[in-house]
Amino acid sequence: MFNLESFYTAFRLWDVLDILIVSVVLYYVYMLIYDTRAASLVKGLAFLALATLASSWFELHVINWLLQKSMTVLLVALPVVFQPELRKGLERLGRGRFFSKSYFDEKEVENLLSALTSAILNMAKHKIGALIVMERAIGLNEYIDTGTRIDAVLSSELLVNIFIPNTPLHDGAVIMRSDRIAAAACFLPLTEARDLSKELGTRHRAAIGMSEVSDALVLVVSEETGMISIAASGHLRRGLTGDDIKAVLRPVFLSDINNAGVIT
Ligand code: ATP
Ligand code: MG
Repeated sequence: MFNLESFYTAFRLWDVLDILIVSVVLYYVYMLIYDTRAASLVKGLAFLALATLASSWFELHVINWLLQKSMTVLLVALPVVFQPELRKGLERLGRGRFFSKSYFDEKEVENLLSALTSAILNMAKHKIGALIVMERAIGLNEYIDTGTRIDAVLSSELLVNIFIPNTPLHDGAVIMRSDRIAAAACFLPLTEARDLSKELGTRHRAAIGMSEVSDALVLVVSEETGMISIAASGHLRRGLTGDDIKAVLRPVFLSDINNAGVIT
């Protein structure tokens, strides 16, 4: 039986510390997976765990047996399915920046933003069509695999060069992972939305489509008008200026770029 007296005498200051540390770690794990695909999985697992408990209370032996077995299978499958997320988490831990919000300090972020913005403004000015995906928490490996891997540090010159018409890599999308150009000439899913303006061709539909199936931000430069747009969560914002691009992307680079798929 639970004995209150022995509980008090056995409870030490260290136990408070113990509980505090566990709470903080749990909080950060939660923040790490919050709003990513891992979050819904954790909810699913919690549901399964509850169902398993309930089936054992009500002595539904067969259901309980099945649920217990599927929990085991799922727990084994987890590290495989979430390999990118786990790797990312461990890398953050290894770099000692687990508790900090950003891999980049503000100066690095401004450099990144300048490179990206100057490439986009340059392409807009010369009406070079471009499609640039910024990967965030949801990994885009399946789309990266449709193109040509590059894995190069972002530079304004390289980015413009990729989109020069009639060059091998210009057709399709560039996918950025953190501060690197992961791949070019990638094929993105087109949106199914029907209520879009007639002016929006496949490049803009691909941008919207990508932002529907992931949390990525997608920048578009129109070849026809030189207009700059950005797609996020299935919405397209058109007519952006250089400052607009920076304002939209700065918080992304400052905080959640660290949640971007795998930092390589
Ligand atoms: P723009 O204003 O630049 O003309 P748009 O929205 O009218 O853009 P299109 O003229 O159809 O679009 O642009 C075609 C180009 O968009 C293709 O050459 C290709 O580079 C790119 N593109 C089209 N579909 C996709 C896709 N699914 N994934 C990646 N890139 C695509
Ligand atoms: Mg067009």
